[in-house]
Amino acid sequence: MSGGDEAQLLNDTSRIKGKEALFRNIEAADALSEAIKSTLGPKGLDKMLVSDNGSVKITNDGVTVLKNAKIEHPIAKMLIDIAINQENTVQDGTTTSVLLASELLQNAWELYVKGIHPSIIVNGYSLAYNKCNELIEKFAIKITEDNLLESATKTSLSGIGGLKLQDTLTRLTCKAAKGISISQNSGITANPNNVKIISQKGGVATDSYLVEGLVLAKQACSPDMKRNHEEGTILIIDGGIEKRKTTIQSKINFSDPSMISAFRDKELELISKQIENIIQLKPTIVVCREGIDDAAIRLLEKSGITAYRRVERNDFELLSRACSASIVASPMSAKKSDLGIFCESYEENWAGVVHWILKGTKQSGVTLVIRGSSEQLIQEIEISFSDALAVACQIIENGKVLSGGGATQMALSRTLKEWSQEFEGRESLAILAYADALEIIPRTLAINAGLDPIDQILALNAAQASAKSGLSSKLGINIHNSTISNMYDLGVIETIQNHKQCLAGSTSAAISILRIDDVLWAKNDPTIPEGIGEEEDHE
Ligand code: ADP
Ligand code: MG
Repeated sequence: MSGGDEAQLLNDTSRIKGKEALFRNIEAADALSEAIKSTLGPKGLDKMLVSDNGSVKITNDGVTVLKNAKIEHPIAKMLIDIAINQENTVQDGTTTSVLLASELLQNAWELYVKGIHPSIIVNGYSLAYNKCNELIEKFAIKITEDNLLESATKTSLSGIGGLKLQDTLTRLTCKAAKGISISQNSGITANPNNVKIISQKGGVATDSYLVEGLVLAKQACSPDMKRNHEEGTILIIDGGIEKRKTTIQSKINFSDPSMISAFRDKELELISKQIENIIQLKPTIVVCREGIDDAAIRLLEKSGITAYRRVERNDFELLSRACSASIVASPMSAKKSDLGIFCESYEENWAGVVHWILKGTKQSGVTLVIRGSSEQLIQEIEISFSDALAVACQIIENGKVLSGGGATQMALSRTLKEWSQEFEGRESLAILAYADALEIIPRTLAINAGLDPIDQILALNAAQASAKSGLSSKLGINIHNSTISNMYDLGVIETIQNHKQCLAGSTSAAISILRIDDVLWAKNDPTIPEGIGEEEDHE
């Protein structure tokens, strides 16, 4: 870029630099964390979100609040991104990650005004983060018992609906997660995508239930096709069995009426060829993603093959995984080895809608049927179930958990403080600031439960200090009776992935923000916060 271009670019911008830039950015992060602080933990309060068109949503989930808020500030958007990333990778810990990021920035600001350069703070934070990752592995507890799987799943559902709904969702989630777990040489795998979720409007949320098998709101193409099969083979076609469609718009002119029947005969011949190829493979069931021509349906019916058409792509993949079937591109390319095997296939009429239920062999497949009085309620349960299912699958695959209720953050904080003494110089101050920031989680849990945060932090610190090493990192705040308790024994436990991702997301966001010392805003940008460019003293 030439010097002239650069001058022009800077002419078109408002600019804040150095201390002012850092102060403004930290202020934005603080505002965001203040907005969601009160939702943390099982005693967190709900937020009512009212959209432009007046629709109302009540939620206790930090990330839902952030996703729905119309936030323009770029730093606030960065923090929202870490919450969304946390949601996408571990489906829990979203509020925690934003609170931690903001607290890390607040503590960094205090060091900065004392004259410590941001690059020293960044170094100290990176050292503290790496140490925390080591410590997490040390504090992690390997679980094998089923009740702990339930406990961890229930902790991830804390704050959602009433206790009865939490119990129902926990029971269904754990059963579903076990239903889709597969033992392999390399260990157990549990892919949450293998659970199908369907909704049935009506009833109450606690009436939701699991069905063994994959349930699709579909019925066989013809009433004369056999509906119930005890076992058999399945062919899955990623297309249809139809007359060939031209890819460009075309018009065919027939100069002689006999040409029309010749044309139709040719089309039928093509369909027959496709059906012949299918029949010689002898599948019990054929499933197509697109349509099946009436002539083809008649031919399949004659051969005793049951066919389903217009099945959605997601269902396709579930069917293929449950039956170990390959998805073929077209009827002509299907081979015997592409067929999958199922244990049972039948149809049932549920409140006037026919449903096809198929149990695979590799895994029978599991479907959650969500009940609820409104679309909105059903959607909320679906999100909670998906999140809890992901947590349960992480535990089945990894099997390591950490204690909740602020226990792990407090243990990390205390160990970091001791460890910081090994460092001489200013980095040790940054490690201490990182350690202090971790206390925001037990402190906020105490505040949200109506407890005195200072008393609780002092009591927790003293209890962890005097406990034996194996017990210390399990002690947290029992928000139900305001005592310091063994959270592991109480069943308040979380996945190791959740804690690791919280630290990774919040540390990286704090470090990126600390590195910014110049902010250029396009002039006339409506998102420029008020007061930019005005001189202020922020100490
Ligand atoms: P996040 O979005 O960060 O997951 P939540 O609102 O789900 O936020 O709250 C999670 C926090 O609540 C965790 O620190 C967890 O350990 C804590 N928590 C959950 N259940 C309990 C409980 N019964 N007692 C104390 N703390 C709890
Ligand atoms: Mg949570």
